[in-house]
Amino acid sequence: MTKSITFTMLKPDAVKNNYTGKIIDHVLNAGFSLKAMKYIWLTAEQAGSFYAVHKERPFYNDLVGYMSSGPIVAIVLEKENAVEDFRKTIGATDPQKAEPGTIRNLYAQSIEANAVHGSDSDVNAQIEASFFFSKFEQF
Ligand code: UDP
Ligand code: MG
Repeated sequence: MTKSITFTMLKPDAVKNNYTGKIIDHVLNAGFSLKAMKYIWLTAEQAGSFYAVHKERPFYNDLVGYMSSGPIVAIVLEKENAVEDFRKTIGATDPQKAEPGTIRNLYAQSIEANAVHGSDSDVNAQIEASFFFSKFEQF
């Protein structure tokens, strides 16, 4: 099966709580490889632009504030069936509903501060990876 990519961010709560190493280890153990990685503090404008798809949602303003409240780690991951398998690896958006052993079950604080992002489609994975990286495909 052909490999595909997905995009993740280790969110400000995960970075502040020093879970960066544990989460990357979890992701590697789940069979993903790292294609590009960057430690970066988003401005509110950048966070708002990344989550523009949610701008009509009631949680949008809080989400933008939260995502620009501290540094994140942006990562492009590769694996067979990357998008779907990564969504399984991270678990449900609400950590209370995330399966035991998933990243959000283990490391998230709340439905907003839920440790990690994961792309929801191959098209969005490309768009999101391109938001942070220009040449991830060459590695
Ligand atoms: N979010 C929130 N409240 C909600 C739903 C989502 O604060 O009721 C935040 C949360 O950080 C989530 C992000 O908005 O990860 C994007 O929401 P989405 O529905 O796309 O969830 P995801 O794809 O991250 O599981
Ligand atoms: Mg989403």
